[in-house]
Amino acid sequence: MSVSYWMDRAIGSKKITKDIVIIGGGLAGLSTAYWLSKEDPTQKIAVVEKHHFGDGATGRNAGFITCGSVEHFNRLVSKHGAKEAQEIWAFSEENLRLWKEHILQGQEQDLLFEHKGSFSLASTDNEFAELKKSASIMHEMKIPVEVLEASAIEKRLGAAKFVGGIKYLGDASIHPLRLLAAIQRKITEQFPNVEFFEHNEVRAIDDEGENKIVKTNKHHFETPVVVMATNGYSPLLHKFFEEKIFPTRGQILMTEKVPRFMEGPCYANFVLDYFRQIPTGEVVIGGFRQLQRDAEVGYSDQTSDVIQEALDQFLHDHVPAVRGKKVTHRWSGIMGFSVDGQPMVGALPTDNQLYFVGAFTAHGLGLAFHSAKTLVDSMFGRPIPRFISAKRFA
Ligand SMILES: Cc1cc2nc3c(=O)[nH]c(=O)nc-3n(C[C@H](O)[C@H](O)[C@H](O)COP(=O)(O)OP(=O)(O)OC[C@H]3O[C@@H](n4cnc5c(N)ncnc54)[C@H](O)[C@@H]3O)c2cc1C
Repeated sequence: MSVSYWMDRAIGSKKITKDIVIIGGGLAGLSTAYWLSKEDPTQKIAVVEKHHFGDGATGRNAGFITCGSVEHFNRLVSKHGAKEAQEIWAFSEENLRLWKEHILQGQEQDLLFEHKGSFSLASTDNEFAELKKSASIMHEMKIPVEVLEASAIEKRLGAAKFVGGIKYLGDASIHPLRLLAAIQRKITEQFPNVEFFEHNEVRAIDDEGENKIVKTNKHHFETPVVVMATNGYSPLLHKFFEEKIFPTRGQILMTEKVPRFMEGPCYANFVLDYFRQIPTGEVVIGGFRQLQRDAEVGYSDQTSDVIQEALDQFLHDHVPAVRGKKVTHRWSGIMGFSVDGQPMVGALPTDNQLYFVGAFTAHGLGLAFHSAKTLVDSMFGRPIPRFISAKRFA
């Protein structure tokens, strides 16, 4: 992205000076503002967002707070080895503990938070065999899981045509935008040095002497340190992210309320598709980006007929309790997928004044808060886990 002289409305006005500028008003950006302020409340921080807070993936997701990554645990072990896979799992368990300790605090009902575990369901015997393999590895590591046969799935989840599944006992779910608002409230109450700038689109980050000039459509910010929490949009802002973070569209539909019938949120089809009933009764169904792989890469947040029809069909085939019920909302959002499926945290190997936190690869609720805390560790010279460090892209 670039800014023409004619478009540069900040020319002639005073620069806003800050110790740190955070770009992006989603879970990652606000979590970073929170942890940076906790570390040192005297730092003057600006959080700069191009639309309104939560307009990105944070306000468009399905609300699952799950551990691990986008693949079944046995695959995570094959890719990373048992020790690092366990570390990856523990990292997201800690994320949920941190949400509870620092943000939820008595607001669980308002935030529609439920800690009832989540399920991974298999439509084929092959996938069920993988899930059982995952469960046995997890048992050995003392990660609490339960194996379910088809009859238990029908009874406990009201879900049809699955051959089996597993339950991850530690997972949870939430209203994602209310969670974001809760973080913002917390910051406002505790840290007066954080200032929020919505409707400020960053169009360039320039060097000036020892500082960076962050240029938005309204202001120029002068700062020694910039944190990009721009998720899937990051390649638009900086070349470093090309071929490392991929904007990937996810689509969802929501039905009208029905009496509660599900024990907890469910993933299906190798974590590609998912459905859950929120505490107020509506059912959310998402996924099927595998049907239009090419179209689901990019920045458009439209919905497409092919995927929405697949979601309708999934509802009809697998969730009988909402068959024939009205679909009240259809939407999409842009996720940031990293090239290796793990988040990216830390200074860019090419510029130690530019930091990044994000690329949660469809798992920001399970990762963003702990990742932002880890980013602050890296900024203050403390060691961070290898699997998450931006240094692995050096
Ligand atoms: C359909 C869908 C379903 C999902 N379901 C789940 C789920 O159930 N569980 C889960 O854990 N995760 C889920 N995710 C992923 C989750 O939403 C993300 O991982 C998380 O919200 C990422 O937070 P973030 O702050 O990194 O990114 P975002 O929320 O995308 O925030 C980035 C912000 O940066 C702003 N920005 C970008 N460029 C600029 C710029 N130049 N100037 C200023 N601001 C800029 C954007 O406007 C945006 O607000 C889902 C995502 C989608 C789209």
